[in-house]
Amino acid sequence: MKDFSNIKRVVILGGGESGYGSAVLAKTKGFDTFLSDAGKIADRYAEGLRAEGIEFEQGGHTDELVLSADLVVKSPGIPDKAPMVVALRQKGVPIISEIEFARPFSKGRTLCITGSNGKTTTTTLTHRILAEAGFDVAVGGNIGQSYALSVAKGDKEWYVLELSSFQLDGCYDFGADIAVLMNITPDHLDRYNYLFQNYVDSKMRVVRNQSAESAFVWCGDDKVIAAEVAKNTPTAQQYPFGKANIADGVATVEVGSKRVAIDLDKLQIKGLHNAYNAMAATLAALAAGVEPEQIEASLYRFEGVEHRLEKVAEIDGVEWINDSKATNVDSVWYALESMTRPTVWIAGGTDKGNDYEPLKEFVGKKVKTLVCMGLNNAKLIDNFQGIVPVYNTSSLDEAVQVCRQVAQRGDAVLLSPACASFDLFKNYEQRGTLFKEKVMELAKK
Ligand code: ADP
Repeated sequence: MKDFSNIKRVVILGGGESGYGSAVLAKTKGFDTFLSDAGKIADRYAEGLRAEGIEFEQGGHTDELVLSADLVVKSPGIPDKAPMVVALRQKGVPIISEIEFARPFSKGRTLCITGSNGKTTTTTLTHRILAEAGFDVAVGGNIGQSYALSVAKGDKEWYVLELSSFQLDGCYDFGADIAVLMNITPDHLDRYNYLFQNYVDSKMRVVRNQSAESAFVWCGDDKVIAAEVAKNTPTAQQYPFGKANIADGVATVEVGSKRVAIDLDKLQIKGLHNAYNAMAATLAALAAGVEPEQIEASLYRFEGVEHRLEKVAEIDGVEWINDSKATNVDSVWYALESMTRPTVWIAGGTDKGNDYEPLKEFVGKKVKTLVCMGLNNAKLIDNFQGIVPVYNTSSLDEAVQVCRQVAQRGDAVLLSPACASFDLFKNYEQRGTLFKEKVMELAKK
């Protein structure tokens, strides 16, 4: 367990959800606490910091105030190459993540979920299962209230945490009681010197410091994870899951003598990826001690998370689906895999170095038309022109109008962009929300 006995001054870099929570926890635990943000801090956090009597600065870092830290808690959004981070490292100041910082102050157990895709869905579902089974549990990490704030405001017996690779990068002594690794596919390579192995190593940190009594739930169909597990046998009890668990539409998983048979037809969340998510959440919940009947009831009640293959409306026999969160090629692969109707596919936005090859197997089969929506659609057009009709649009209005015209009764319109949203929107949530509004306007006409 980490020892903070020599630490007097804790400086938090970044004043978002994670930084705010860390600052409140540090202050509560009696450290000389200071928060510094190079940009603007959202009003709600600035007000919260003032209310807690925590000193902070925004719009830039003051060297003397930051470099005087004994310990720095860095928000996951700040890259290692940020000049202040480089300066702190040069000075030898330890830099850790919020998760690493908060852990020693909590008696609760941690159930940590990571992967390139499926984190939020699996985290939300797992938390729901534990909460509905009556556990004293909070959800945190990348979603909802930060872990640190939750620990500061009243410790829970269980924490279900969605962990990004950036959060894992700042973990050293942290060990998850239950670790879940969904998949590892290329993402965020700009933060990993464009080396996939660096990103893989980061994700594999989720099993560091686990004990023999802890559990490691992972997708056995993922070749990257399988290779890592073969290289370095994890200490924890292993619970792999995959297609091998599925027969006749039922996915069966077990921990010890407890077994859950998931009827995939009865799940409201559809597609192979959601079968994976359901198996992962079930194994994690079993490992945490939830009874099979309780898990089953929660699984079938779970309606999914907003912006992830979310059904918006059926208009004149056309189903409109919002999958705005699909910001990389792999997530779109699973979205298209799950489609059962001829699909008008809306894609495009800010390209993250996408390789569209894996999607070509669906285009011309499941995908009947591609509607590009972005300021620069050249790459998408290049990849798919000649295989299916491709429309070039540069606004949501235009894209929805084209879809309205080309989609026929029995079709689906799927917004699953494979790209970030920043060319036309603030973020993926705004893209999805505006899409839903436009669709609802069509429904009223
Ligand atoms: P994350 O939090 O990791 O981004 P989400 O649960 O928010 O994951 O899902 C993001 C997108 O990834 C969804 O739109 C969905 O299409 C796709 N997805 C969800 N679960 C999986 C999975 N297990 N494997 C691959 N893709 C998935």
